Amino acid sequence: MAILKSLPYMFANLNWEDLADIEARQKVVLLLPIGSTEAHGPHAPLSTDATISLEVCLMSAEKLARRNYKAFVLPPLSYAVTECASQFPGTISISPEVDTRLISDICLSLVGGGLKKICIFNSHFEPAHVQCIYEAIERVKEISGVGVAFTDITRKKYSSRLVDVFQMGESHADWYETSLLMAIDPSLINEEKRRVLPRLAINLVEKIFKQGLSKFKEFGMPGAYCGDPASATAEEGEMILERLSDFVIEDADGLILEKVTQSQRGLYGRQKRKESQ
Ligand SMILES: [Zn+2]
Repeated sequence: MAILKSLPYMFANLNWEDLADIEARQKVVLLLPIGSTEAHGPHAPLSTDATISLEVCLMSAEKLARRNYKAFVLPPLSYAVTECASQFPGTISISPEVDTRLISDICLSLVGGGLKKICIFNSHFEPAHVQCIYEAIERVKEISGVGVAFTDITRKKYSSRLVDVFQMGESHADWYETSLLMAIDPSLINEEKRRVLPRLAINLVEKIFKQGLSKFKEFGMPGAYCGDPASATAEEGEMILERLSDFVIEDADGLILEKVTQSQRGLYGRQKRKESQ
């Protein structure tokens, strides 16, 4: 808790008078980190996605502050549709309806209070969840007319500039996510377990979109990880964090200039989710 208090970019550390000036408020950029609470291998915590998103947003807010913009990081969302990992203890999944409403209600509440420059950063790539984010953004636009930015790194615009392993679809508790966590805080990783994990060449894109599978165990991921976490390094994690925060800055720039160009869904967000049973 003491750590959170010390972070100047945390929105929730402001008091309402800090936001009382309507003109100043309209210029504020808000970054919404989205993750999940779900199994991430035997070596990484349930909070992996939320931790990565929070760190990327904090780095982005700091970079924006250096350019004299006021940017704050909203309290991270740690609950999402996480059905792929539902066979593993500790995973918490919410329904797509709640996921969509949670994100859109938060944005609509902020917009109603004059805080209209919102950018989402997500690190939980389960397609059903990514679709909820797009649906939430569409709902905010329909109701308020305001465009929310979304740094969707599964979109080619970003993924083509990310490291090869991410593009291969081995993106769960893998080299990529593990390197990021090692850069953020190595104490989050169980090193003894990480070092001896065999590489699992499982392509999530293929399993989900081509084979129509929906659970990690069906994918051939009995430990809730894929890829090669044993080869992860903090140095590479630092490099990826820099790049991810630069992506957020690109979208934040669009908000500052009032040019939110998106709604073109990335691959993960493209498939319309099934209507609820
Ligand atoms: Zn993850």
